Amino acid sequence: MLNKDQFADNHFIRTIIEEDLKSGKHEAIQTRFPPEPNGYLHIGHAKSICLNFGLAYIYDGLCNLRFDDTNPEKENDEYVNSIKEDVEWLGFHWAGEARYASNYFDQLFDYAVGLIKDGKAYVDDLTPEEMREYRGTLTEAGKNSPYRERSVEENLDLFYKMRDGAFPDGSKTLRLKIDMASGNVNMRDPVIYRIRRAHHHNTGDKWCIYPMYDYTHCISDAIEGITHSLCTLEFEAHRPLYDWVLDNIPAPHATRPHQYEFSRLELLYSITSKRKLNQLVTEKHVSGWDDPRMPTISGMRRRGYTPEGLRLFAKRAGISKSENVVDMSVLEGAIREELEHAAPRLMAVLNPLKVTLTNYQAGVTQSRTAAFHPNHPEFGERDVPISATIYIEQDDFAEVPPKGWKRLTLGGEVRLRHSYVIRCDEVVKDANGEIVELKCSIDHDTLGKNPEGRKVKGVIHWVSAEHAAQIKVRLYDRLFTVERPDAVRGEDGEYLPFTDFLNPNSVQEITAYAESIAADLPPESRWQFERLGYFVTDRFDHKQGEAAVFNRTVTLKDTWQAK
Ligand code: ATP
Ligand code: MG
Repeated sequence: MLNKDQFADNHFIRTIIEEDLKSGKHEAIQTRFPPEPNGYLHIGHAKSICLNFGLAYIYDGLCNLRFDDTNPEKENDEYVNSIKEDVEWLGFHWAGEARYASNYFDQLFDYAVGLIKDGKAYVDDLTPEEMREYRGTLTEAGKNSPYRERSVEENLDLFYKMRDGAFPDGSKTLRLKIDMASGNVNMRDPVIYRIRRAHHHNTGDKWCIYPMYDYTHCISDAIEGITHSLCTLEFEAHRPLYDWVLDNIPAPHATRPHQYEFSRLELLYSITSKRKLNQLVTEKHVSGWDDPRMPTISGMRRRGYTPEGLRLFAKRAGISKSENVVDMSVLEGAIREELEHAAPRLMAVLNPLKVTLTNYQAGVTQSRTAAFHPNHPEFGERDVPISATIYIEQDDFAEVPPKGWKRLTLGGEVRLRHSYVIRCDEVVKDANGEIVELKCSIDHDTLGKNPEGRKVKGVIHWVSAEHAAQIKVRLYDRLFTVERPDAVRGEDGEYLPFTDFLNPNSVQEITAYAESIAADLPPESRWQFERLGYFVTDRFDHKQGEAAVFNRTVTLKDTWQAK
């Protein structure tokens, strides 16, 4: 469930919107989230989604979902569908149908014809290399193309022929006639159409010319009546072009959109670029876009992250114009905090050590019930049965305990969570000297009460061998070993491939034991395994009737810092 406190507050975009509503500049706001369907959405997009949909929600406006689909070679319907699923899963609803910039191709073409007729656009024959030469540099003005002064008639004739397929790919472009000496390189006669014979996921083979992003985006915003067009800071220098285009076409809508920029989220130990994430998938470093190690929304979902946790993270990352570099621990902290309230508890033992309870007595030794959540009685309770053989975690026993040890040791006592106090009487080893079993005795007078005359400090989790369900557990760790895998330079000063910094131990699958309820869960069921962390049944590989498959979402504490 959404509520208005879940979103970043006190930021400059909210101030602008509040002023625009107060002054009557806008009666209602309309935002949009404009992904290019060339990959799956990642954590950076989650920030933008929470911003755009969140503002519409807070100010009772609307937010469109618009696919910015002007690069047909890289785009497809698998990406379109995954993006829709991710936005809905995050808890948001777009206004009306999903939109496509490609739905406006006819209108965009007509506006281009209008610009040519007004003498504000021309067909250019420069090759890409020549165009680069003519463009100049940041400190040097560019030069006019020799084709810049073509007549309106010639331009119109050539542009129609471009559309009709008379010229080879890349041989001509349509450019705006703005100013080759502009201090802003984006204003030096930007290309707005290029020839590209490529099948488009939405328009098929109808077009062999495609409009460029800068030209398409502002007009799409204007067509849809967007009031506040929010994008990341790298588009700041494109804003004059955004405005130029809208100043020079007949307004498609009474509302004139304005662009505002905020800083991109950068997540340490991670990657926020669809292109690089795509490389991880195609080079098979991960199992797919939704691999639980991926910072994609679908990967994080599979990992067990919740929409509420991601929204909390986006709120904490905040909105501003200054650098937004956030440590992974902030993301993990938000997820943990959310799951602490939402996830019921059970016990599981990941590295089992067999314990024989030598004085276990059927009929005398009793089981207790335990609440699924200490603060949520409405989650209900379950039986925690005990039997003559139980499993505890190997590292909850130490033959030679370090100072301050509160867990089990030879001759020492510990409480079994939700059950009795036991004492270890004997350690059984195999021929190699490895501990294979403990023999322990139960203090039968400690069920639900403290032992007489002494304090037992340690409490450990355990499962009954007779009742436990065997489960598979995937232990995930960070995908990269360095903070900024895509910004490490080698000795020659060049960037090293980010794939050099993949963590070779980012996943490990083990067989473990859990309370019996684990045998009968649906996919995407989230639990806290007591003392271990949060785990989720895998969305795809967990099948009812087979051994449960759990993914570790996050450990209970931030163990990374301590490593
Ligand atoms: P990528 O480089 O990963 O492809 P992009 O910006 O090209 O990212 P788009 O699909 O064009 O991806 O982005 C859709 C929206 O999401 C844009 O408004 C963009 O500014 C925003 N966005 C993308 N990455 C981030 C990020 N890291 N932080 C905040 N917003 C982002
Ligand atoms: Mg992009």
